[in-house]
Amino acid sequence: MSNFVFPPAEIPSAAVRGTGARYAVRRIFCVGRNYADHAREMGSDPTREPPFYFTKPATAMTPSGSTVPYPTETRNYHYEMELVLAIGAPVFKLTPEAAVAAIWGYAAGLDMTRRDLQAEAKAAGRPWDTAKGFDQSAILGEIVRVSDIGRLDKGAITLAVNGVQKQHGDLADMIWHQAEIVSNLSHLYRLHPGDLIYTGTPAGVGAVVPGDVVTGRIEGLGEITLTVGEPE
Ligand code: MN
Repeated sequence: MSNFVFPPAEIPSAAVRGTGARYAVRRIFCVGRNYADHAREMGSDPTREPPFYFTKPATAMTPSGSTVPYPTETRNYHYEMELVLAIGAPVFKLTPEAAVAAIWGYAAGLDMTRRDLQAEAKAAGRPWDTAKGFDQSAILGEIVRVSDIGRLDKGAITLAVNGVQKQHGDLADMIWHQAEIVSNLSHLYRLHPGDLIYTGTPAGVGAVVPGDVVTGRIEGLGEITLTVGEPE
């Protein structure tokens, strides 16, 4: 018997490919501007900026294949196709060499964004929470174990809207590579299994509207889909 006044919320989780098991999600970290061509399209210099992060609540996670209502309070709802890392060990203050072993799994993810609210927040020097951490903003495919597919250090990362290609990059083009990101983040936080890291998006971000079907693909990993529904 618990003494909670309301029942505790269900633990957010993702399917693990090839198993009946699920990966319980604890936190969602996201890397900003991690592909040079996307940094340029957002008006930044890709050569000089160290990695920076923002977060989404674990409750924002929504499985691939979902229809998500067009979000409230935006007129510029954007997709960002990303490789997601799933941490599989408790780690703290790792070197990049040691950080590689902490990456337990991969998934395809969509960092959905209220771009207009993000632009307003940037201009005002305010936090990005309402632009990035809103309900159903972290679309996630199945988690695939590194032990099943090996390391994904290169390979095409693409996204299409209604079958028309919009984003095309290569995982090898990340400014900060996977192990560097995990290492850097592990100096800022104690990482644990259940922590996901969205590693940034290549160029070609853009808006979607109700009825659009977004399909992302990462070579060697698979596909993720999202259908944009009518606003609530
Ligand atoms: Mn992103």
